Amino acid sequence: ATPTAVMVATGVGASHGVLIKGGDALERAQSVNYVIFDKTGTLTQGKASVTTVKVFSEMELGDFLTLVASAEASSEHPLSRAILDYAYHYHYFDKLPTNGTTKQSRDQILSEWLLEAIDFSALPGRGVKCFINGKRVLVGNRALLAEHSVTVPTEAETFLVDLELNAKTGILVAYDDSFIGVLGVADPLKREAAVVVEGLKKMGIHPVMVTGDNWRTANAVAKEVGIEDVRAEVMPAGKADVIRSLQTDGSMVAMVGDGINDSPALAAADVGMAIGAGTDIAIEAADYVLVRNSLEDVITAIDLSRKTFARIR
Ligand code: ADP
Ligand code: MG
Repeated sequence: ATPTAVMVATGVGASHGVLIKGGDALERAQSVNYVIFDKTGTLTQGKASVTTVKVFSEMELGDFLTLVASAEASSEHPLSRAILDYAYHYHYFDKLPTNGTTKQSRDQILSEWLLEAIDFSALPGRGVKCFINGKRVLVGNRALLAEHSVTVPTEAETFLVDLELNAKTGILVAYDDSFIGVLGVADPLKREAAVVVEGLKKMGIHPVMVTGDNWRTANAVAKEVGIEDVRAEVMPAGKADVIRSLQTDGSMVAMVGDGINDSPALAAADVGMAIGAGTDIAIEAADYVLVRNSLEDVITAIDLSRKTFARIR
């Protein structure tokens, strides 16, 4: 394409909120034959909410929620936000501050009753770990609990599997290295997701879903959105490996993602597309930024490249 054609395409892209970082990126998108989607925040709205809570111990529900929210308070993960919101609403009435001020923010109210968490660490792809009241608290997936030799009772495992088959993410909680309960979190698909997946297939492009979430949840979500090729329980660093393995036969691979965890994959892809508000680091690693946070713009980007370069072939 002539420099003028590239400039025109860049302008057309920008008017759709598709920011293209240079002529090479624009050119590569035409030949993409795989589009890898991150699940959370990319195919889904990234607005997780707690739908189920089940305590498997003597602990009262309110205390359970306080404990879990306190452990998650320093995490930036979408799952953490969902848990804090749920706990906040649960406690809103019985723990409303009585000092007369009614115009406190959510964060101020939370700070009134959250417990102090010591030695907090966020474990990518697994969950969070800290100490509360001198006891270790673990909130995350099976792998996290297994690492600390916490056994999950059969009854709880059955409950978890049921959540997962319904496309929900099950979050496990251990206190003092004993299993104490489960939360189920739902994150609805973006409205356009299924249509875009169908559109890509019609363009001869193979859609793939990659996620750190467990296989059952991943498969249930993939089925809803129409994706047959699923890679689940992938640790954050493994997403780039998935891309490299697809590239070995000369395939052109696009990756669509939003989070910090996705930047190595965005960089490894032939065409990296950061979607939505994204994180600065994801935006930096990407060739395209889809500012409208709409998956339709994955098609807009590929289409624009195809049209720009078809004209001069
Ligand atoms: P995704 O690839 O879907 O964006 P992540 O790699 O961020 O997922 O996380 C994978 C899994 O690790 C989650 O599904 C969850 O089970 C667990 N996890 C990660 N962070 C947290 C957290 N802050 N609290 C609880 N669980 C978490
Ligand atoms: Mg993610």
